[in-house]
Amino acid sequence: MAYTVEMFERAQQIIDERRRENEARSQRRREAFEKAEPEYTRCKSEMIASVSEVIKAIELSPEKARELIETQRRRNLQAQETIRSLLKKHGLPADHLETRYTCAKCGDTGVLDGRLCACQIEVLKGLAFAEAGKKSPLRFCRFDDFRLDYYDTAYVEEFRCSPRERMETILSFCRDYAAGFDTDSPSILMYGETGLGKTHLSLAIAGEVIGKGYHVLYNSAQNIFNELQRERFGRSGTDGQYEAMLLECDLLVIDDLGAEFSTQFTNAALYNIVNTRINQSLPTIISTNLDLKELEERYTRRISSRLIGEYAALFFFGSDVRQLKRDE
Ligand SMILES: [Zn+2]
Repeated sequence: MAYTVEMFERAQQIIDERRRENEARSQRRREAFEKAEPEYTRCKSEMIASVSEVIKAIELSPEKARELIETQRRRNLQAQETIRSLLKKHGLPADHLETRYTCAKCGDTGVLDGRLCACQIEVLKGLAFAEAGKKSPLRFCRFDDFRLDYYDTAYVEEFRCSPRERMETILSFCRDYAAGFDTDSPSILMYGETGLGKTHLSLAIAGEVIGKGYHVLYNSAQNIFNELQRERFGRSGTDGQYEAMLLECDLLVIDDLGAEFSTQFTNAALYNIVNTRINQSLPTIISTNLDLKELEERYTRRISSRLIGEYAALFFFGSDVRQLKRDE
């Protein structure tokens, strides 16, 4: 399951609506209080006046300016103090006139210290779950739908087992992986010929891990790089958020690495993703039709050595089972 640009936009809209509603609510409370307590209006004018008086300090000597600023500061504080006692008199809480944001940390902007705030990530998760419940491939790729009987039982000398036996081992590894998933789980490299169930199994893991409440991003390598490129060159309006998600989600699944149009940009982006997530001990699942030698040729040793050295490698072999599925 990927966070699409549409989801980012929708999440931002939801947060913006929240902020507007919360601000409108506090505005209504202030208006009601103004009606109930005319003294409040006077205090507000006092506060505004004190601020505009301070501007005059520019034209004064330093000493006179200090004096003016101090007087206006006291005038402002006095007005605030009066408002507090007025609220008390009416039996209202001290923050009655202030905006109560759903997320006090970011004031319902969705951004905190230049990154996505936890509240926005929550909204995104909700959207991703809703989307996953629709026509997502996740729904159709469960472990229970994985058919071992498509795989040949003939022994293959080179790998010292049959494709069926290999798939039994891989399937049970993936089931255990999903069942016991936490953010310390290892990364996985699924490699081998096309049509052997790599996507099915990585989606099944993603679906189960999402079901546990983890924050999972799933997408093809091609889509991930396209999205990053759009973001990098300012065409997506997501302002680095997608990249942050790729680097920080609990589980990242990159499907079909090697099918993308590879450039210096995509190679650098891949290295950054792989490296950053390894350094933060966050698991990634990569599936690819390339073999280990092709991975090295295509992505340089810098990347391939990290994939081969740090990922649990699952090698798929056999003949393409997709035709068998279609023939049913
Ligand atoms: Zn927030």
